[in-house]
Amino acid sequence: MEQVKAYGAESATSPIVPLTIPRRDLLANDVKIEILYCGICHSDVHFARSEWDAMAPVYPCVPGHEIIGRVSAVGSDVTKFKGGEIVGVGCLVHSDGTCEACNDGEEQFCPNANLTYGTPDVHGTAPGTLGGYSESIVVNEKFVLTIPENLELAAAAPLLCAGITTYSPIKRHGVGPGKKVGIVGLGGLGHMGVKFAVALGAEVWVFTTSPGKKADALRLGATGVILSKDADEMAKHAGTFDFILDCVAAKHDINAYINMLKRDGNITLVGAPPEPLDVSAFGLIMGRRSFSGSPIGGIAETQEMLDLCGEKGITADVEVIGVDGINDAYDRIVEGDIKYRFTIDMSTLQQ
Ligand code: NAP
Ligand code: ZN
Repeated sequence: MEQVKAYGAESATSPIVPLTIPRRDLLANDVKIEILYCGICHSDVHFARSEWDAMAPVYPCVPGHEIIGRVSAVGSDVTKFKGGEIVGVGCLVHSDGTCEACNDGEEQFCPNANLTYGTPDVHGTAPGTLGGYSESIVVNEKFVLTIPENLELAAAAPLLCAGITTYSPIKRHGVGPGKKVGIVGLGGLGHMGVKFAVALGAEVWVFTTSPGKKADALRLGATGVILSKDADEMAKHAGTFDFILDCVAAKHDINAYINMLKRDGNITLVGAPPEPLDVSAFGLIMGRRSFSGSPIGGIAETQEMLDLCGEKGITADVEVIGVDGINDAYDRIVEGDIKYRFTIDMSTLQQ
């Protein structure tokens, strides 16, 4: 067991502080990765601050599941990777490989899946999995992704969570030419959702609470921006959307967006507000509309998304920070003051 430098939280009210954590010795199918960049997801903030009933952290916890790094060692049976390669790790680090979900290539639904942080580690590392705000990580090769060579690494890190979480439902719901698509909340997930929906040829509208993000939404390729607090603007678009992706991190009025859908339209929630949302029956019934959710994506689909990003040159818009900037970044994320993802340069861990 190796001890490595990391950053994490010691309690729900603690700031993110320097820690030393264990990383297991390489098993036969393991890849050791020196971490170069790690994106900051709003889930890291929810988790470190213990905001979700469904996922209580064991402290100290180390967040971070948008990991880009360089392979520094491989186990004896590893065939997929060799030393020096640039690779990625997202939210999944293991699954049982035998259940229906795993057989379907949808490891995110495996009842025994292990997340990159906050779940028990099948390999027995106490106190459970610890994430990417650290100098290195050891991961089974099946859960390690190949990063297209043309992508800028700091900007590619957020693809590992924000990218796949938006790409998967956008693809599943047939977003493409002729479809009017709404993206709610222009943050880390939302801005990736805009990029994918635009790249797939849809007409994309951004719903935002922040008038200051309007110009960026248009620069990202949106046809228009709807200020969700402006009732007149909202009314103009009622009943016109085929699909809406809701990326909001806090409690909000979901009915306002359900009413934007056409007959048989779908709104998919990827945002994970800690509080329940109140759904009005009639918004769903009258238009035979549906409201669903979606978590990340499987490993094969994540690789497909990365390869598409390589082909089309898609990455996140990032603000690169050092480890000493993580706490400020958390505060700015909660305030919605984000353009549009923070990525930590992990080389600052050594300074
Ligand atoms: P983020 O960068 O903080 O973006 C969230 C955006 O939501 C904000 O920029 C803001 O956009 C909007 N917003 C925030 N508070 C709001 C409020 N009170 N009312 C209305 N809008 C508000 O967060 P993120 O990293 O994209 O993550 C978004 C959510 O997705 C989080 O809850 C996260 O935990 C969850 N998540 C889920 C999955 C999954 O697998 N389903 C994966 C990753 C993350 P505007 O300024 O444009 O209004
Ligand atoms: Zn995430």
